[in-house]
Amino acid sequence: MKIQTYSILAGSEACNARCPFCISKMTPPNGVTLKEPTINLRNFRKGASFASKCGATTAMITSKGEATLFSGQISKFMEVLQEYDFPFIELQTNGLNLEQKREEFDPFLADWYEKGMTTIAISIVHYDAEKNRQIYTPHKKEYMNLPGLINYLHNKGFSVRLACIGVSGFIDSGSELEKLVGFAKEHKVEQLTYRPVHTPEKSENTEVYNWTKENHLTTEQLEDILNYVGKNGVELLSFGHGGKVYDIDGQNLCITNSLTKPSGEEIRQLIFFPDGHLRYDWQYKGAILL
Ligand code: SF4
Repeated sequence: MKIQTYSILAGSEACNARCPFCISKMTPPNGVTLKEPTINLRNFRKGASFASKCGATTAMITSKGEATLFSGQISKFMEVLQEYDFPFIELQTNGLNLEQKREEFDPFLADWYEKGMTTIAISIVHYDAEKNRQIYTPHKKEYMNLPGLINYLHNKGFSVRLACIGVSGFIDSGSELEKLVGFAKEHKVEQLTYRPVHTPEKSENTEVYNWTKENHLTTEQLEDILNYVGKNGVELLSFGHGGKVYDIDGQNLCITNSLTKPSGEEIRQLIFFPDGHLRYDWQYKGAILL
């Protein structure tokens, strides 16, 4: 059995953004609520040990909502993860808190860096602030200063990944992806991923399910994107789950999908839930180890 990533669910479903495609609304709660949960640290260690024994090189702190709303909990996870020496430790975030509450996060970021965090992955839908506002903060007049956040995190020593979700009307063509690649290169973003928004086979939330069905990429849009990457990218790596990494004029770009289904003897993600459950698929309750 091989495991790629140990995914750790921090916090709760609470989030400071309002994405209409929010995947956490589409997957079953599995014991995750809006309140800060108590972590089952015993099983957290079991998961870390299993993932590490099965060759996982990455531990990723993520959330059903926004992980940085529970920064103390992230520190606790980082403390325990030190025992397992994962080469890469990543934090997935929408970035809003980190950019807008710098004084509060300065000590946390220094602590997480000290304990081995390597990468901060910021989810986006565009290089343009207004386009990101429409998705992440439609209830506010402004989004955040994304270039400022990238610079801030670089100054703190972190690698930055921009994780772009492909939505029709946003980054939905080869030419738009080319501009996003240009933006990433300009701001020295180490890694860029592009993942088309995905409508799962079943959903817990009809509104979100319908939105993703109406706004996912068409076959033509996806072909145009893949054509651009095929013409301009040099393929560097290919993953079992279908993701591929390219170099485009010096910029790293990974094209991937959201699926976690295991293929053969490989589990893409071992997922730790705060109540102690260990699962290997976000969607299917049957995919459970503990
Ligand atoms: S940032 Fe993530 S958790 Fe928050 S609303 Fe958007 S998709 Fe959902």
